Amino acid sequence: MTSPGYLTISRELLISRIHAIEERSSPCILCPRHCRALRSDGEYGFCRIGIHPHVASFGQHFGEEQPISGTKGSGTIFFTGCTMGCMFCQNYEISHERMGREITEQDLANIYLHLQAQGCHNINLVTPTHQLPAILKALLIASDTGLHIPIVYNTGGYEDPDTLQLLEGIIDIYMPDFKFADERTGSILAHTPDYPQICKAALSEMHRQVGDLALENGIATHGLLIRHLLLPGRSEESEKIIRFIADQISPNTWLNIMDQYRPAGDIRRTCPDDFSDLLRRVSPEEVARAIRIAKERGLIRGLE
Ligand code: SF4
Repeated sequence: MTSPGYLTISRELLISRIHAIEERSSPCILCPRHCRALRSDGEYGFCRIGIHPHVASFGQHFGEEQPISGTKGSGTIFFTGCTMGCMFCQNYEISHERMGREITEQDLANIYLHLQAQGCHNINLVTPTHQLPAILKALLIASDTGLHIPIVYNTGGYEDPDTLQLLEGIIDIYMPDFKFADERTGSILAHTPDYPQICKAALSEMHRQVGDLALENGIATHGLLIRHLLLPGRSEESEKIIRFIADQISPNTWLNIMDQYRPAGDIRRTCPDDFSDLLRRVSPEEVARAIRIAKERGLIRGLE
């Protein structure tokens, strides 16, 4: 099996990247919000998480895409908080209500090693952006004590390309969402009016770093896997997203078009008037349309 990036780059480079990421965290410009919160002095920004690791849960997860879960599961770690504010968040308690607890970097390194000992194919960092300094420090500790499986960066796609550049050679598999194609949708549903252009730039940077998804014996070793959660009544946005991925990223992209949306989080309480479709599930016709468009554009990896 190919060695993961963090074992291939020099230890000095890894340490210098950790310092650079740490510098971006206080005043904080880790994510595109650029809150400039002095997190090392105890200030919180939009994500409302401090500088120590804050974890909701972790474990062997078999519900990811086949190349990620494989036969032994993905070593999934759910980090508390989020840089986005999706009204319909499917993990609302973790991202909005700060479910979880603060731990140390040594604890987090022990979690990586525990998941590896369970046989997991990778370490799957769910919503990692705002906790990157601690995540990387724990990676340094764990790589010194035997960690050797790939790192998956599992994100909502709202990423600062300058922060991403510092992850080059460290992250093996990028697994971003592409959620919204229209600024108004991003603004109303997630407090991210700049989401479409930010996500496009982030996906391009990720693909530049790791390329298309590469497998060994059916298991992902590195590359880009994009997820798109279909939203009811937003087929036109889905079409724009699919076209962008095929035309501007690569028709060889592993794309997971997800149909499991359910009305969750704030959307059940305060659904914006012109988004009332979000109170229902996605229809079979909407799913079929998105898959047909993807296949017409040559995007078949992940849809076969
Ligand atoms: S990571 Fe958090 S504090 Fe930093 S810019 Fe983003 S939302 Fe603000």
